Amino acid sequence: MAIKRNQNPHPKPEKKERLTNTKTNQDQDSLEESIRPHSFDEYIGQKDLKDVLSIVIEAAKTRNEPMDHLLLYGPPGLGKTTISLILASQMGVNCKITAAPALERPRDITGLLVNLKPGDILFIDEIHRLNRLTEELLYPAMEDYRLEITIGKGQAARTRSISLPKFTLVGATTKVGALTSPLRDRFGLIQRLKFYEPQELALIIQRTAKLLNTSITEEGSQEIGRRSRGTPRIANRLLRRVRDYIQVKKFDTITQELAAEALDIYQVDPQGLDWTDRLILDTMMTQFNGGPVGLEAVAAATGEDVKTIEEVYEPYLLQIGYLNRTPRGRVVTASAYQHLGKTGLS
Ligand code: ADP
Repeated sequence: MAIKRNQNPHPKPEKKERLTNTKTNQDQDSLEESIRPHSFDEYIGQKDLKDVLSIVIEAAKTRNEPMDHLLLYGPPGLGKTTISLILASQMGVNCKITAAPALERPRDITGLLVNLKPGDILFIDEIHRLNRLTEELLYPAMEDYRLEITIGKGQAARTRSISLPKFTLVGATTKVGALTSPLRDRFGLIQRLKFYEPQELALIIQRTAKLLNTSITEEGSQEIGRRSRGTPRIANRLLRRVRDYIQVKKFDTITQELAAEALDIYQVDPQGLDWTDRLILDTMMTQFNGGPVGLEAVAAATGEDVKTIEEVYEPYLLQIGYLNRTPRGRVVTASAYQHLGKTGLS
């Protein structure tokens, strides 16, 4: 007997790489490094943040002290690691980069801390994922530049205090609310990174195109900018895919038309939504009558991971006003219905 399947109106593209994925793999890492801005002049947008940090740097330099610990939060790919590297270069110090999942055992963090030089920056990505032991080691390290380690077990256990050089911890997180308050309180400065305006993304794309020796018109960079979900990492990734496309089609300049053509093929729509965004919205409309619905139910119905929906997809859908958060769950808005060409919002 033939099995009739539900037709998915948003077929998954065959390519494994999701264009709007904000994570990187190793190959992309080296490319990402080559296009990373090295100074605030090259770092486009985030004016308020740059203003605040410039003052903080200036003051720290005048006092000849390291900067206060800094917590940066915002969706992935907005430039948190880049900021940390720029701060280190402005302060003339090293920046060690790590991420909470790599700090499993207490010796992982102690090893990093004891090897810091005075003034160095320690950047910890996904800092809301630190385990309790590691986090507790960080408290005295952040507050008094001391490491409290316990040697031995049971009755013979003794605590030793080791002094550390003065350093700056830069923590990055996509979920500031998930940080414990003792950790959050130890940051002297807490700053949010905002999604970028399409025009800022167009400038980022023009800069990257120059570094990649790719010719692009202003309208071409704007077209890619509009579809980049407010995120520089995505903008740079889309640019590389469009560059592949024009190379294969034997054009030498990215125009608006070619950019749109290429991104349509990759199923990145004019608002920057990919098939997962559309699947999330479509599922909420068809299976949950537009909401309110909890994220767990949406995750189960779409086969996506709750964390990925919450940290990667939802922030942009909220930003562009396609989703609303209510006390009873997420709700799809009228503009989302309009965008997907659907009716049904009562
Ligand atoms: P995050 O740490 O927030 O995930 P990154 O700092 O790794 O993001 O930035 C991702 C990529 O986006 C970097 O390779 C960098 O080239 C680019 N980028 C980020 N912010 C900017 C910016 N303001 N101007 C230009 N390029 C940027």
